[in-house]
Amino acid sequence: MEIARVEPLTRARALRGPFDYRVPESLDVRPGSVLVIPFGRRRCLGVVVGLTESSDVPAERLLAPYSMLEADVPEPLVELGLRVAEEYCSTPARGLALVLPPGTGTGATARTRSRSLLTASITATGTAALVDGTRLGARQQELLGALANGQRPAGALLRERGGTHTTLRALERRGLVALEQQAVRRRPPIRPVGGRSAGPRVLSADQAAAFAAVLALLDQPDAADRRLLLHGVTGSGKTEVYLAAVAAVLERGRSAIVLVPEIALTPQTASRFQQRFGDTVAILHSQLSDGERYDEWLRLRRGEARVCVGPRSAVFAPLEQLGLIVIDEEHDGSYKQEGDPRYDARRVAELRAGAAGAVLLAGSATPRPESWVAFPRLSMPDRVDSLPLPAVEVVGMAGIEGALHPRTVDALAEVRERRSKAIVMLNRRGWSNFLACRDCGHTWGCPNCDVTLVLHQAAGRISCHHCGHSQAAPRACSECGSVSVGRHGIGTERLEHELDRLLAPLEVLRLDSDTGSGREATARLLERFEALDAGVLIGTQMVAKGHDFPDVELGVVLDADATLRFPDFRAEERTFSLVAQLAGRSGRGPGGGRVLVQALEPDAECLRLAAAHDAPAFLAAELERRAALRYPPFGDLIRVVCSSSERGPELEVATLLAERIAALAPEATIAGPAPLFRLKGRERSQLLVKSASRSAAVRAVREAVETTAAEPISGPVAFAVDVDPQ
Ligand code: ADP
Ligand code: ZN
Ligand code: ZN
Repeated sequence: MEIARVEPLTRARALRGPFDYRVPESLDVRPGSVLVIPFGRRRCLGVVVGLTESSDVPAERLLAPYSMLEADVPEPLVELGLRVAEEYCSTPARGLALVLPPGTGTGATARTRSRSLLTASITATGTAALVDGTRLGARQQELLGALANGQRPAGALLRERGGTHTTLRALERRGLVALEQQAVRRRPPIRPVGGRSAGPRVLSADQAAAFAAVLALLDQPDAADRRLLLHGVTGSGKTEVYLAAVAAVLERGRSAIVLVPEIALTPQTASRFQQRFGDTVAILHSQLSDGERYDEWLRLRRGEARVCVGPRSAVFAPLEQLGLIVIDEEHDGSYKQEGDPRYDARRVAELRAGAAGAVLLAGSATPRPESWVAFPRLSMPDRVDSLPLPAVEVVGMAGIEGALHPRTVDALAEVRERRSKAIVMLNRRGWSNFLACRDCGHTWGCPNCDVTLVLHQAAGRISCHHCGHSQAAPRACSECGSVSVGRHGIGTERLEHELDRLLAPLEVLRLDSDTGSGREATARLLERFEALDAGVLIGTQMVAKGHDFPDVELGVVLDADATLRFPDFRAEERTFSLVAQLAGRSGRGPGGGRVLVQALEPDAECLRLAAAHDAPAFLAAELERRAALRYPPFGDLIRVVCSSSERGPELEVATLLAERIAALAPEATIAGPAPLFRLKGRERSQLLVKSASRSAAVRAVREAVETTAAEPISGPVAFAVDVDPQ
């Protein structure tokens, strides 16, 4: 008897699968098949993680599945899903959910399946019948006549010409018409942004050298390490190297995954792959409809598409014969998943490429310290066509009134006079950061979080950027009744307003999650900016992503050291890459470019090095600092946050947890419990576990959390475990 080991897709954390099921002869079950199974008193979906001949459960008590879904998962992906669950302290069900066909969900049935359409075509007998006097009813004649011009979907045909399915079936029985179900592919919309030509380029010497290194690894079956870091300055033509590498992989009959930060923000990259490889490319991302995503997934699963371009979840694309995984802009924070499992797609890509014998090619102008140390490097230090990198000037804002430095005002005025383009980044949404009463000092805070509410002027509301709480903007102080309410700080909304006034008639466009976070809205805005012959694009860090606009001559970063004021070991890394990336948007055309960086402390080392475009020097200094503190890449980090609705239990439990982790992993160092600001109505306490032995630390944390969570003391406490926190 064949027995399937099945991991049920349930939410329950306590259940430990897999469970055994009897495989009926009628089902062709293999590892990766998705079954509808009886589970306790319910029915639910389960993934087959293995097949066996024997079970601890007596044969007569083994249950059989009800049915099997049409789509299954390649076996290596089942292993990958389980591995991710393990590595990121999650459950097998949640790990497996990552690799399932889109829309599978965890319910008893899949929500999404492929769609087919009944289509009608005329047979040879049918064609003859139209002319040889065969007796036909008027309606039959009409339908046959319409089909003489070619195959039609039955529904549309009947709507247009009248008649019912019965009429069609009657024609089919007489052999005059053939009816068949045809699969319909739901296609995601393609929206090419970026007008530069799509054909393959002659690679520059640096590009050719990088490509050759990828080829060498691809064709060397016994290479021990197939990871590469492509460090190329902004505009050095990294995408062209990815394209050449993907072409080589396809020629070898293998497949490729290209990870990009966010499709909505980098539509140019995705469309360059589509333009080059056509239908061989499938695009997967969250803003497709369920049906579109499902069909794209199936095309990959069936091998009809062999290149998958998408954000972090595309690392789980159901491709076989994988030859290459590209991670574009590998420094980007969006590769980390925020919900459980909190996986890092860059690490998952390493695991997957390693298991598949595929090349891993990570590229960035501002690589992470982690990959700088670990991967062999390929370097492209110059821009295509030897365009110089823009000159960057850091200006101090101490003692300056208003949001803009006089030099920034001058530079923007020059853009208006020359009728060219500028990008201005201010990483803060809204009109002003907070309101304060000028008479009594009252400030407006979020009822759920310990933060101030941000004014959104156009909406007439003050909102929390952490929990989404929003209320009408006050006209007067709620404490003393004063109508003198001060607005402090500046966000993108107010900046847009000020630049509009300052630069009229020059057009000012704003891009942040208030102006439209959807793919459509973002793409339209970027298209509009590209089409302008002069204008200013302002926005949050969304404007610093890999856009390629040749005619941007000025880049401006406001409050560049805001990120440095956060107590976070990645503060320097973030600041450096944000400034260097924004600088990279400017001067990509014959007009050249310049960049102004405004900061409260203009002498900060990471700003100075970003201004010098000196990633290697920055990384050297940063790595020295991290080594001293044993931060990544010299140790792994696990963050555990305990939270409760009242103050007290979260701290008590975190303290207990810290003791237990210390006992289980003596080698690790534990910082905390440290209080975090109240968020979404929850008091929080954090532990930071630092360890040189990742798997031992993960195991210790998992065990300690599971033990503690099961005790009464943890009743009101929730746990969040984050391995590789960002
Ligand atoms: P990066 O990703 O490194 O920032 P891109 O790949 O976007 O750079 O390339 C910048 C621009 O240079 C693009 O418009 C691209 O089409 C062009 N380009 C890249 N390689 C070449 C080449 N070998 N010859 C001519 N133009 C190129
Ligand atoms: Zn007041
Ligand atoms: Zn809030």
